[in-house]
Amino acid sequence: MSTTAHATTAAAFERRLTHTPCSAAERARLIDSPVFGTVFTDHMAHVTWTADVGWQDRRIEPHGPILLDPAAAVLHYGQEVFEGLKAYRHADGSVWTFRPWANAARFAASGRRLALPELPAEDFLGSIEALVSVDVEWVPGVDETSLYLRPFMFASEAFLGVRPARGVDYLLIAGPVGPYFAGGVRPVSIWVSQDYNRSGPGGTGAAKCGGNYAASLLPQMEAYERGCEQVCFLDAATGTQLEELGGMNIFVVFADGRVATPALTGSILEGVTRSSIITLLREEGREVEETSVRLDAIRTGIASGAVAEVFACGTAAVVTPVGRLAGEDFDLTVGDGGTGAVTAAVRARLTDIQYGRAADPHGWLYRLA
Ligand SMILES: *Cc1c(COP(=O)(O)O)cnc(C)c1O
Repeated sequence: MSTTAHATTAAAFERRLTHTPCSAAERARLIDSPVFGTVFTDHMAHVTWTADVGWQDRRIEPHGPILLDPAAAVLHYGQEVFEGLKAYRHADGSVWTFRPWANAARFAASGRRLALPELPAEDFLGSIEALVSVDVEWVPGVDETSLYLRPFMFASEAFLGVRPARGVDYLLIAGPVGPYFAGGVRPVSIWVSQDYNRSGPGGTGAAKCGGNYAASLLPQMEAYERGCEQVCFLDAATGTQLEELGGMNIFVVFADGRVATPALTGSILEGVTRSSIITLLREEGREVEETSVRLDAIRTGIASGAVAEVFACGTAAVVTPVGRLAGEDFDLTVGDGGTGAVTAAVRARLTDIQYGRAADPHGWLYRLA
């Protein structure tokens, strides 16, 4: 994962601004307690790609419906990738994002896997800078809130033949968010799916694409039916190792202080949060292993107390403690079912950096406003 801060020139995005922006009073009401993914800012960034011309027409335009031909390839074959990152307001009013170079690199890698064109990092970062600069009033300032940024691109060419599209659209939308799970930070219960996989060897598991999420929805429903909030998938090849949740990576903390997380096997998404947590834990002298995490060993460890904590992580929910792990033939409470000390500490360490409450020794923050 790219950790260095590349100097980028924000590409020029033409501003075609809305004539009917949200009023300050309405915006304040919407920002107050947004439910994740339901409230959006006034504008979006948009770049068009054609096989003949390449990337063109970089613009900021009003957030709103887009016109798609019903034959647009994405609607039929799912050629789409996306990203997720956040803009954080610091106490002095400045606005920052977190390791956007890593998201830009991952977006390009996801695009390659889905046979989509690579969006240059300059355009990825340029779209974020341009959108946040016009909609900066939408970045909330209260604790644990942020502006969620959702870059995505899809095959817009009207063509039903099966081949990579020759017409693609990249968009960036944004919206204020509070805590991802209703009720704020509290332990979640996880259903280990033994019937379904989200990806497999040679598949698209390492790419951030809508298709992986589509594949995770039925198992997610199964989890709800079993009284669990999230699903954890096992490796498709052997069905014995934990891989990750539908949209979050997973960590296990042992009672002796060691930490383990599934190694990147090609079917796991390499989270920016995962990578940051590995760095932060190692920095405090902890042994962190990227390894195979066997379900049977974790089950035995939770039952014996050798596994003290389990947590999930990702940009949207940051660090989420796992209080319960269940499957077809087991139902285990992790530790005392509450938030473990290592989980709480690494969450605080990471959010302190993101919100500017602590120094940023790795140069992870990128100023937007
Ligand atoms: C986005 C995502 C994550 C988390 O990645 P972050 O960069 O930490 O937000 C983990 N797993 C999957 C499948 C994802 O799509």
